[in-house]
Amino acid sequence: MDKRAHSIDPAEIDDFQGLRTQANAIKKHAIDNLDYYLEQLEQNVIARGGKVIWCRDANEAIQFVATLAKDKGVKRIVKSKSMTTEEIDLNEHIEHTGIDVVETDLGEYILQLAHEKPYHIVAPALHMTRYEVADVFTKNLHIAREEEPEKQTQIARRVLREKFLTAELGITGANFLIADSGAIVLVENEGNARLSSSAPRIQVAIAGLEKVIPRAQDLATFLKVLGRSATGQPLTVYTSFLSGPRRQGEIDGPEEFYLVLIDNGRTRLLADEHKRQSLYCIRCGACLNHCPVYRKIGGHNYPWVYSGPIGAIISPQFHGVTKDPWLPFASSLCGACAEVCPVKIDIPKVLLELRSDITTAKRKEGAGKWERLAFRVFSYVMQRPKLYEMGAAMASAVFPGSQGKWLSSLPSFMLLPPTKNWLSKRDLPPPAERSFRSLWRERERAKGGK
Ligand code: SF4
Repeated sequence: MDKRAHSIDPAEIDDFQGLRTQANAIKKHAIDNLDYYLEQLEQNVIARGGKVIWCRDANEAIQFVATLAKDKGVKRIVKSKSMTTEEIDLNEHIEHTGIDVVETDLGEYILQLAHEKPYHIVAPALHMTRYEVADVFTKNLHIAREEEPEKQTQIARRVLREKFLTAELGITGANFLIADSGAIVLVENEGNARLSSSAPRIQVAIAGLEKVIPRAQDLATFLKVLGRSATGQPLTVYTSFLSGPRRQGEIDGPEEFYLVLIDNGRTRLLADEHKRQSLYCIRCGACLNHCPVYRKIGGHNYPWVYSGPIGAIISPQFHGVTKDPWLPFASSLCGACAEVCPVKIDIPKVLLELRSDITTAKRKEGAGKWERLAFRVFSYVMQRPKLYEMGAAMASAVFPGSQGKWLSSLPSFMLLPPTKNWLSKRDLPPPAERSFRSLWRERERAKGGK
């Protein structure tokens, strides 16, 4: 967080807030005209000798990769970090076909060996200590224990280098898809995405539809905000442009190039003019880093691979609001996420809209009737001070000097069904012996008597 704050300081960069506004405008334009830019992208990828595969869901994408690998006699795949492939559980499915799939980002490689899911969308193994990494390497690579991070990196480098050289197929994600040139842009710090996309003879880039941006010149804005928001770097170490297979006369590049474009629920978001801004996300992770809830509960307590505030708004929209309906409510609405988001997604507002959608959906299912009744009674009483005072006096009289679990000691017929569940974990503070109003009156009387 400190590094981000330093990198966006006016002494470091001119008008960072202006760049955020610009990034938001470009994304809005791209998403509002998604059909146009996706077609343009497809034409340009094809013109460069690549193939575009449209996939409605995870299954279609997995089937495409599995069939391609089988048809081309692929025994090993090297992969760079990609949340889209995590989203569709690509590795697990491809491994079942007997093909060796190797994650080549250091954090992802550690997680693959440990059989864990990413904890953070930018730093997937953020939760692991170097001692835990040492355990994972020793157990899985059958090597002497090494606890120094630099040496652990060298170990991974040695193992992965051999995998790069023997893989027939490389899979990457895509940070941006440029419609007017058909180029796929990869942004990374380790160089493994560049190797995954250049060493194997077949290359597949897998991306969500929303990654498209209109023009190559728009990239300047996104590259300036992405690195700073993600890791506090002015620019990530490697920015690679993939533009189809090797052409005649070129000495390197893959023989075949495929761009897999995945919908998997994304177009559902387009129907809502306001909530569709959730598709602007460039996966920088800044909202996670600044979210008090994410920082407390960590990435593994979210129901899907996308965690933190962005996960809380896209998971219910991709999967339907009735699946994990608690998610948009698990927020304090402090607004820190919206303040740092480089593409200015109004996450708190989308959360509120989702809460409203969830409540409406639940109401249609007939749920929440006890809660509504309780709030009606509460509202009725709160609008009638005399009634409230009578109730408070009665509670104090019935439970004089009560302590601890007083409410849960009431006979169960006096409690509404949801209250019973609530009381199994907690209780209300016992009623005060004297109400604030009666203490106040007494005080005023005493003052008047002086
Ligand atoms: S919602 Fe914004 S801050 Fe969060 S990951 Fe996406 S771009 Fe970054």
